[in-house]
Amino acid sequence: MPHAPINPYESMQASLRVASELYGLDDALFKVFMAPTRSMIVSLPVLMDNGQWEVFTGYRVQHNLTRGPAKGGIRYDINVTLDEVKAMAAWMTWKTAVVDVPFGGGKGGIVCDPNRLSMGEKERLTRRYIAEIMDIIGPDRDVPAQDMGTDAQTMAWVLDTYNMHVRRTENAVVTGKPLSLGGSLGRNEATGRGVLITAREAMQRLGKPLAGATVAVQGFGNVGSQATRLLHEAGARIVAVSDSRGAIKNDRGLDIHALLKHVSEAKTVTGFKGAEAMDPAALLTHQVDILVPAATENQITEDNAPKIRAKIIVEGANGPTAPEADPILQENGILVVPDILANAGGVTVSYFEWVQNRQGFYWREREVNERLVDYMTHAFQATFATTDKYKTNPRIGAYILALDRVAQAMKYRGFYA
Ligand code: GLU
Repeated sequence: MPHAPINPYESMQASLRVASELYGLDDALFKVFMAPTRSMIVSLPVLMDNGQWEVFTGYRVQHNLTRGPAKGGIRYDINVTLDEVKAMAAWMTWKTAVVDVPFGGGKGGIVCDPNRLSMGEKERLTRRYIAEIMDIIGPDRDVPAQDMGTDAQTMAWVLDTYNMHVRRTENAVVTGKPLSLGGSLGRNEATGRGVLITAREAMQRLGKPLAGATVAVQGFGNVGSQATRLLHEAGARIVAVSDSRGAIKNDRGLDIHALLKHVSEAKTVTGFKGAEAMDPAALLTHQVDILVPAATENQITEDNAPKIRAKIIVEGANGPTAPEADPILQENGILVVPDILANAGGVTVSYFEWVQNRQGFYWREREVNERLVDYMTHAFQATFATTDKYKTNPRIGAYILALDRVAQAMKYRGFYA
């Protein structure tokens, strides 16, 4: 029987419940963590190029603000729902706590198909959205960044709209900006670099080198393509990759340089000469050392989890594994580097960008990358120390590490009633 679609917010709550019980979380705090602090729904009238008006729905959710301003991306996708944005906002609370940067969790989204919007339509949509959520964002309130369907150009419109309204330069209101507007060196590849760093740490935990390891990557957006390139440069052998149009494989190893060139022209991995086509579903169960799901939620389910043969899963996407799949992966001895650790490189460099904006002093790329390694390896060690201490799987270990940090801060602050 087909399963009911998995609600990402319920997935987040399921992992939170398991972690809270194991940790012995105070009941009042548990109730607070189960619901986001603030959810805003906005209707966005946009003049389309054909002269007609369309009204889009947008969301901004702040899950928890205890450790600092909300932080998290804005997603443009036709499948965006309030529950998805709520889940991703909560994951940002846990992610920022795992890497220990002084932010809470937030996320935004607009229900739209970004591939069917012209540049002008996208700009008008973005500006109207920012104007509508103006009162709840800001460098000390809530700092957006990019996510699926948005990029540095979108962030530049966010910056400009906000700055026009407040009538001053506030470039710390958003991260992931172009370099010429106060963006940080290393931000564009930061999530992929975080995947590389945590993959290397995970291999080390298995006593194996990253060089020579075989890799399959699901998804070839910013995270998947950067992770592919960096893993390849680190000596790993990328044998399969996919995107929304299909999957390709070459067991001898894909020529990544040629593949990236192909993708920059064809806008898809499919049709690449140096590979054969494969069933995208088979990519997840392909025999590899490292599997990197870098697409979207709920790709690894209780149906395909028993067939996964990778030694390590490094979750580049948010929520790629349904909660029911976790015990199966654990049972099969697969080491999972959970999303709130594995893809935290992006928000870590977003934090560096925010710091540089506020200092008005910019770092060399080498400094950014060295600091990223420092933050990510600390987070990795802390996650696995917690996992071992509580004799659990790394996802629950990461949740416990995060909720302990947020809970400690909340205890000091107390409930304002
Ligand atoms: N959207 C990214 C994420 O899910 C980046 C968020 C940020 O940099 O604030 O982690």
